[in-house]
Amino acid sequence: MTRPIYAHIDAAALRHNLAVSRKHAGNARIMAVVKANGYGHGLKIAAAALADADGFAVASLEEAVVLRDIGCHKPILLLEGIFDAGEIPLCAALKLSIVIHHREQIRLLRTAELVEPLPVFLKLNSGMNRLGFKPQDYTQALADIQTMPMLSNITLMSHFATADDSYGISEQLSTILSCFNGWEYPLSLANSAALFRYPYSRCQWARPGIALYGASPFADQTASELELLPAMTLHSRIIATQTLNKNETLGYGRLWTAEKRSRIGVVACGYADGYPRHAATGTPILVDGKRTRIVGRISMDMLFADLTDLPEAGIGSQVILWGKGLPVELIAQSAGTINYELLCARADRVTMRDL
Ligand SMILES: *Cc1c(COP(=O)(O)O)cnc(C)c1O
Repeated sequence: MTRPIYAHIDAAALRHNLAVSRKHAGNARIMAVVKANGYGHGLKIAAAALADADGFAVASLEEAVVLRDIGCHKPILLLEGIFDAGEIPLCAALKLSIVIHHREQIRLLRTAELVEPLPVFLKLNSGMNRLGFKPQDYTQALADIQTMPMLSNITLMSHFATADDSYGISEQLSTILSCFNGWEYPLSLANSAALFRYPYSRCQWARPGIALYGASPFADQTASELELLPAMTLHSRIIATQTLNKNETLGYGRLWTAEKRSRIGVVACGYADGYPRHAATGTPILVDGKRTRIVGRISMDMLFADLTDLPEAGIGSQVILWGKGLPVELIAQSAGTINYELLCARADRVTMRDL
């Protein structure tokens, strides 16, 4: 027997979420963002289920290698571009597209001798202030890469800081449009939030990530309201039960005290599996399909579920930590974080089953 925890990855849900994203994308092509090991869903599993996407976006050359290895022939974009000159030959051999976001990358590429040029996404910093050329430097950067024979197929790109909240995209969008004005190149702007809320920002290449995994990019709109289906369900089981008398305490730090006689289930899932240690008492959890709450402090390998009102539950009972029937957003809220972080944090020791 192995530890009973596993993540079920639902390929049909991934395909469904891609179809929903397509509905919003209209004629735009979809670059499925599969960085961070497919947001924790497993890069190969995610890419296979999302094979109908028009392209893929990753954060590293290693991830791109995996995609080519499993037979992906679609465009693959390195979202941060190259980190050093040594990566250039492999980028060319694998026919990758690269983001260029900094002068230093232009310098590295200038001397490269390639048999075939690399497609480029030239990134504008329109207010996110993370990657990209400032508007006043953008035209010069574009002029530079236009003269470089090792670069081809230019796409203009930017990224929104507040597509998911009430601030919106209008300020960045006007910066972007005035900067890109007059160029005939294709554009790529929208993440999931922009694609779903501001479909006019989809342009030629949309870049959804979180939505494909069935999670909401918005704090004020649930995944199900967006017609998305959770692709990851984190399963485990009850491996022990305890009965506490009134005033007895539970777990590390004696963080929780029984206010009445209570029955507690010990679940084989802890922060070393990627469950957030900061999930507070009261965080919802499903035991045999019934909703109850987590109590006490999350340990490395285990956590506690209150079974006081679930007399049928006991050792071996099925537990769902998040996923089908229990939106990951609820756990994220309770732990003071966001769904993205929980999905990406799935530990390697949590094996995946795709059905
Ligand atoms: C991660 C990322 C995305 C996808 O964002 P979601 O919010 O997950 O849709 C798109 N574009 C860039 C540049 C990214 O880094």
